[in-house]
Amino acid sequence: MSFLEYAPAPESTAILDLKPEYGLFIGNEFVPGSGESFVTISPATEKPIARIANGDAADVDRAVAAARRAYDKTWSRMSGRDRGKYLFRIARLVQERARELAVAESLDNGKPIKESRDVDVPLVAAWFFYYAGWADKLDHAGLGANPRSLGVAAQVIPWNFPLLMLAWKIAPALAAGNTVVLKPAETTSLTALLFAEIVQQADLPAGVVNIVTGAGETGRLLVNHPDVNKVAFTGSTAVGREIARSTAGTGKKLTLELGGKAANIVFDDAPIDQAIEGIVNGIFFNQGHVCCAGSRLLVQESIHDDVVDRLKTRLETLRVGDPLDKNTDVGAINSAEQLARIRELSEIGEAEGAERWSPACDLPENGFWFAPTIFTNVSTSHRIAREEIFGPVLSVLSFRTPAEAIAKANNTPYGLSAGIWSDKGSRILAVADKLRAGVIWANTFNRFDPASPFGGYKESGYGREGGRQGLAAYLKGGLK
Ligand code: NAD
Repeated sequence: MSFLEYAPAPESTAILDLKPEYGLFIGNEFVPGSGESFVTISPATEKPIARIANGDAADVDRAVAAARRAYDKTWSRMSGRDRGKYLFRIARLVQERARELAVAESLDNGKPIKESRDVDVPLVAAWFFYYAGWADKLDHAGLGANPRSLGVAAQVIPWNFPLLMLAWKIAPALAAGNTVVLKPAETTSLTALLFAEIVQQADLPAGVVNIVTGAGETGRLLVNHPDVNKVAFTGSTAVGREIARSTAGTGKKLTLELGGKAANIVFDDAPIDQAIEGIVNGIFFNQGHVCCAGSRLLVQESIHDDVVDRLKTRLETLRVGDPLDKNTDVGAINSAEQLARIRELSEIGEAEGAERWSPACDLPENGFWFAPTIFTNVSTSHRIAREEIFGPVLSVLSFRTPAEAIAKANNTPYGLSAGIWSDKGSRILAVADKLRAGVIWANTFNRFDPASPFGGYKESGYGREGGRQGLAAYLKGGLK
């Protein structure tokens, strides 16, 4: 064993008390779904975890009706102070059940346990604590006096941060006085169903939170339901476009958080060792299944070769494998479909003339795996520089001047995030000012905080989540 190898340190799954089958969560009860149930599997082993209900039109109707009743009879009439107490209770229960939630998330999603344990679940608790604090202070959120809730919110979320996206959606909606029907992604419903148990434990009034599992069709039925007042969606640009079209003219308030192709810009005066860690975190965190991932590395030409060499050396040390092993840096790809998409775009990258490199790494036989990959000699016209790969694949481009870096960074249909690495604060501010991205990190990457708004420009969607701006999406009246 070399000094870089570690003995396996698997997290036990004994803490989980999973049911073989889960129903839909409507009116604080688990009820059977009308559609044919499906199996959720572990992407690391392809072994089944549990059967999940598939919500159809009648189920969506029931869930929206439960949310409407709860909105009219209890939640919209309750004082902000009391709503806040429920949210604080949820936050504390998330903390109490943190280990269980982290293990379930890694099992169902494939992300490394050290990420679900140290990033996802703590942020989920932080989101509920943060918005619990706002519930009785809505008059002071800069939205004018006495801002009003919207009603029933339909929320559809993706598979890359299943529980965290749930928190981003549910916490502000509830704090603002709305009730919700949430549809998790079909490959990652498990933690949403454990969250439903937390809702029961917290003794929320029935119908305030409803969870309808199922595939895209269930999501489509939910966002198009006539008794929904607000739609919040995170996922692909294609589905986002479809939702924008179908909700146009209905009076439903809409926020869309879609894809990204972020530029991570490294100037020649950057602290290089720090930047290497930021580049790795930017694209290999969560297997690159991150809408704001730093998937386009822009390096100043004078340091290009040095950065690429150091990056390759660093990648040799990444441990790819069992998501439940506490040493794992890169876990499993979430699904066979996503793996096929990553493979296809990577093959296109090679065919278009970019140079592909991966460290030597043994991938497990079963499950869905993709080795961390770097493409050099990439030009802005290559598909791997334009399309969201949503996997552990980095495209490296170079630039000579700040103006060229800005032009290349902005040369994308997306505009979700960007990173700037430089020793000079003035350069960081000057460049950040010209980047068309909703979130810009300086000398760091992929940092999230509930007080900080998050969202995009152009095809990355519209609306903001997080901060007081995130409340505006769930209240009548815009930010003043
Ligand atoms: P998707 O947009 O198809 O799915 C996201 C969610 O929307 C899921 O819950 C899905 O069931 C639901 N959905 C699907 N069709 C729907 C419809 N017509 N109406 C309402 N809801 C619908 O995303 P995906 O298939 O999981 O991933 C495809 C690509 O999307 C990825 O390769 C990636 O590029 C991108 N993506 C982005 C994010 C993000 O956070 N921005 C997250 C996941 C995926």
